[in-house]
Amino acid sequence: MALDREELLAALGPQQFWRDVRIFETVGSSNDLLKELAQHGASEGTVVIGEEQVSARGRLGRSWHSPKGGAWFSILLRPQMELGQSGCIAVTLAVGLAHGLREAYKLPIGVKWPNDLWLNGRKLGGILIELASRGEKIEWLIAGIGINVNNPLPSETRVPATSLAIALGREIALEEFYRLALGSISESYENFLKEGFAPVRARWREVSVLGDRVGVHQGEAKFEASVVGLSESGKLLVRTMQGIRELAAEEVSLSI
Ligand code: ATP
Repeated sequence: MALDREELLAALGPQQFWRDVRIFETVGSSNDLLKELAQHGASEGTVVIGEEQVSARGRLGRSWHSPKGGAWFSILLRPQMELGQSGCIAVTLAVGLAHGLREAYKLPIGVKWPNDLWLNGRKLGGILIELASRGEKIEWLIAGIGINVNNPLPSETRVPATSLAIALGREIALEEFYRLALGSISESYENFLKEGFAPVRARWREVSVLGDRVGVHQGEAKFEASVVGLSESGKLLVRTMQGIRELAAEEVSLSI
């Protein structure tokens, strides 16, 4: 099922938060396109959707397969916050999206810290955060979100992949997906602005797919650790033989 632009804009309705939704048939990467708009002053709530991306990247520059049928989009936020809080925002967006999709599709969608979405032991999608700062303040923050919906999956992945269509046994309307996804992301972000990170941390516990032990890959180093929880800035707290350590999202990969 292709994305119908008119239907999508109608499904989104007069959204309060997502004021400017731009849909493209093909983009290199929705993050790169939105970054350019952000640098030229685009406002919070701008969304770029690519029906397909031809040069999308995941974390650490790994390529992200994004053919037609999937949901590939980037959102622009301008939180008036210190740089140190970007980890909270990353978790807030992932937890909000996982929770919203869980409720809507009745599927056990979880979050693999910091910002991958998992379903039935497989990777459903991921979120890539990029930001710019002015001094210690965030100037803009872009979250690139890629979710396998109806698209074919890449033939080889580091961890097994899945899609919503595989899990549900049917294709779903992308217009409906975008309405749900954007609605749950803005709700989670606005709640975070009002109530802080504590409710997000509580919800993260419900949707996290990390077990008690994780394998941590940090640069050349690899070690095992016990998961303790999330810090106040969204870092992962783990216990090793040397004591408690805080892991920053941009520095580590976890195996579970
Ligand atoms: P980690 O699990 O180590 O944190 P990552 O989240 O850093 O991994 P990303 O960089 O986000 O991984 O994603 C890139 C990897 O995802 C690629 O190496 C590829 O194996 C896999 N991949 C690429 N496209 C898709 C897709 N559409 N669905 C699932 N996995 C994909």
